[in-house]
Amino acid sequence: MLVRFWGTRGSIATPGQSTIRYGGNTSCVEVVTNAGQRFILDCGTGARPLGGWLLANAPKPIQATILLSHTHWDHIQGFPFFAPLFIPGNQITVCGPRGANTSLPDVLAGQMEFTYFPVELEQLGARIEYLDLNEGVHELNGVRVSAQFLNHPAIALGYRIEADGVSVLYLCDHEPYWESLWRTDVPPGKLDAILHDGDRRHAAFMENADVVIHDCQYTPEEYPAKKNWGHSTYSYVTQMAVAANVKNLFLTHHDPTHSDDFLDGIEAKSRAIAAALGSPIQIHCAREGYEESFITAPGPHLRVNTVAASDQETGSHLLVMVVDDDEDLRFLARKALTRAGHRVIEKESGQDALDALLGDGTDTRPDLILLDLFMPVIDGHQVLSRLRSHESTKNIPVIVLTAHGDEESARKSFEMGATDFLAKPFTPPQLDARIRSCVARAGHQGQPQ
Ligand SMILES: [Zn+2]
Ligand SMILES: [Zn+2]
Repeated sequence: MLVRFWGTRGSIATPGQSTIRYGGNTSCVEVVTNAGQRFILDCGTGARPLGGWLLANAPKPIQATILLSHTHWDHIQGFPFFAPLFIPGNQITVCGPRGANTSLPDVLAGQMEFTYFPVELEQLGARIEYLDLNEGVHELNGVRVSAQFLNHPAIALGYRIEADGVSVLYLCDHEPYWESLWRTDVPPGKLDAILHDGDRRHAAFMENADVVIHDCQYTPEEYPAKKNWGHSTYSYVTQMAVAANVKNLFLTHHDPTHSDDFLDGIEAKSRAIAAALGSPIQIHCAREGYEESFITAPGPHLRVNTVAASDQETGSHLLVMVVDDDEDLRFLARKALTRAGHRVIEKESGQDALDALLGDGTDTRPDLILLDLFMPVIDGHQVLSRLRSHESTKNIPVIVLTAHGDEESARKSFEMGATDFLAKPFTPPQLDARIRSCVARAGHQGQPQ
């Protein structure tokens, strides 16, 4: 399986003397199976040179499957400049997560609206099909492609492509679910020592992969000022990949302020972390123009235990119950949720929530519950325990909210059946993305493949 990098920069294209070696184009990676099935991971500005290369070199008509991680600008801006789209006879399938309230073609058409671009989406000559993807396993042109939600302030999917006995993952854009990666009551380094369920699931998705291409925009020193922006540090990515027994790690989505020399430093530091952990993993900062063919390594090949895809919508309008004694938090949550198109029920105490959910003759069944942990009289854990022991409420996704974020609370919440654990303060798009991924995931739990 061939992997070729066309765009490795995050956020905005950054041409110039200081980015010549690693490249200035935004996210775009080409993956081609031995049978010639072509996948294009994201359509940042790197999609423009890729399109030109395909016109000159690929068999005609051109067939490709575009897998969009999400629709932030740096992942779609090359789409209108991807030349194969203009040529009749070419067949392009565009896959991606459904946007919050907008379909994939509507989002792509939006950036090609005449105010911004001279050619409209409908005028493109190629045959273009759109496919909304959800978390789970998909069969695309006979190739197994698994998708899993990432932690980003927009609904974003990571992809695992498996063909020719090789697995390649593309995980952009993604931020750690929790500040501390490891539990302190067990030795660090293994998947089950990861504190937050979200991070453990993310590491399990990469398990035993041949190639992982991962968002690595920041250094650990830069991260605190950029928290909740949806990106990872080399320290987090390296530790995760080592724990997951990944063979080759490519750090990408380089920050626009990071020069080639700076990225050399990130690569060296990342390798030093892996060496200190005694890992044989190969680590590179991804370079635009770099390509490598990966072949099956001898030995057993483990498939990740992922789930079948469901039709559960991530874009629908949800009914969310907010349980918090803090009026300001309820106000902020309501504002964020209604703006994202959801309906909100507010409860100011654990007892009020339980009365509404478990009381006689109640017909309140929210799609998801946002549950504050620290409340007087009946706290979030007590509410969660009651909900999980009741048939009618045991499967409702619950996001536990906390202002303190100590390890004990996080561990206990997951042990008691929390779907997710989120620290305050959060941003409105971050909250919306976490809610939608929890609800979508709840729709297909328990169907491992
Ligand atoms: Zn990005
Ligand atoms: Zn993004």
